[in-house]
Amino acid sequence: MSLSYVHPTSDSPWGTYLSQIDRVLPYLGPLARWAETLKRPKRSLIVDIPIELDNGSIAHFEGYRVQHSLTRGPGKGGVRYHPDVTLEEVMALSAWMSIKNAAVNLPFGGAKGGIRVDPKQLSLKELEKMTRRYTSEIGLIIGPQQDIPAPDVNTNGQIMAWMMDTYSMNTGATATGVVTGKPLHLGGSLGRVKATGRGVFVTGREAARRIGLDIGGAKVAVQGFGNVGASAAELFAQGGALVVAAQDHSGTVFNGHGLDTASLQAHVKATGGVAGFAGGEAMAGEDFWDVDCQILIPAALENQITAARASRLKAKLVLEGANGPTGSAADDILAERDVLVVPDVICNAGGVTVSYFEWVQDFSSFFWTEDEINARLDKIMVGALAHIWDVADRHRISLRTATFAVACERILTARQERGLYP
Ligand code: NAD
Repeated sequence: MSLSYVHPTSDSPWGTYLSQIDRVLPYLGPLARWAETLKRPKRSLIVDIPIELDNGSIAHFEGYRVQHSLTRGPGKGGVRYHPDVTLEEVMALSAWMSIKNAAVNLPFGGAKGGIRVDPKQLSLKELEKMTRRYTSEIGLIIGPQQDIPAPDVNTNGQIMAWMMDTYSMNTGATATGVVTGKPLHLGGSLGRVKATGRGVFVTGREAARRIGLDIGGAKVAVQGFGNVGASAAELFAQGGALVVAAQDHSGTVFNGHGLDTASLQAHVKATGGVAGFAGGEAMAGEDFWDVDCQILIPAALENQITAARASRLKAKLVLEGANGPTGSAADDILAERDVLVVPDVICNAGGVTVSYFEWVQDFSSFFWTEDEINARLDKIMVGALAHIWDVADRHRISLRTATFAVACERILTARQERGLYP
């Protein structure tokens, strides 16, 4: 029987995730007996977050923390602040974290959190109050050995610092390991800020090599120029690619000779978005999907590559920096059109991999150099992708289904070995 508290559609995030699980069932053998476990989050917490605004009025926000699976270790996954956040979206994001963590073989389950809020409408003080109250409310289920949040859309190192401080105040001891993505002098890790973008680049570089696509001179289009999109764009530019288009919530900019990614980052920092960037021309939002490019990096939100857009894309390689950017129907169209998709559940796993390094460093109170971190990240991502590629070749399935096959086998084997309690 399906869950009573969500009503997924074929295109909604949880609906997309369920159909991804259905596609992998034929490859799970006897472990398929346990597959229903993957269709039910272990625990979903909905919290009310009341705060007093600067003008003296009281505002309430709805917050969530979902622990999809704790079978292989503590929950791990980011916290998103966005006006469209829903329980269903957080469930899907937490489930994709279970798959991602297992796909790169990190000793974590999957979790995710979020608050339904437009943080741009809040002052810094209000943002801090909301973050602290949210942390206190979900403090029932998070902790360095229970569930470890991290940054996601519209959250950053400062917000992680407030979360760490609030949790530490409530428990009576400084607990740096309760969140990752913290500032460096609070137990953060070198390389964490750019880790997700770096992972997108590493998996993209490997995939491009395997399909004979030269990154030098390749044209790249990036949707989302935040933490993930900007870091990935910078590394592709350093690798000799031309980042010809960038789109974010504020607009789209295009330059056929390549945007200067460093100047564009400075512009975004100063103005809040890519719109108005002098080093490129403005473009209508929908035209982004027709841009002449070999590599497309969706690095914003879910469901951006719709079936209609999938039929038009020029790219040969899609690198899913964002979580869930491609709907199931669009996925099939891309496969028919021979467009290779490196799926989110491996492509953007660089962030959680360095979060894992941060958590390990916090426990040992021994910190690594940036070179060590980047080298270890590279090794894990290259190894994980190679294994997934072999599975895809062996079964003649997409990289997405192969990633799910590798991950689900690990999660369900652990589930079977643990058995059912009581
Ligand atoms: P961010 O807040 O730093 O950036 C988000 C970007 O998306 C911004 O440039 C924003 O303008 C853009 N955007 C928002 N709405 C848009 C719209 N309607 N159209 C076009 N662009 C829009 O967030 P981030 O951390 O870079 O996360 C981006 C994606 O990557 C999300 O799907 C997130 O879940 C995923 N992700 C992030 C991490 C991480 O470590 N931060 C790790 C794995 C996956």
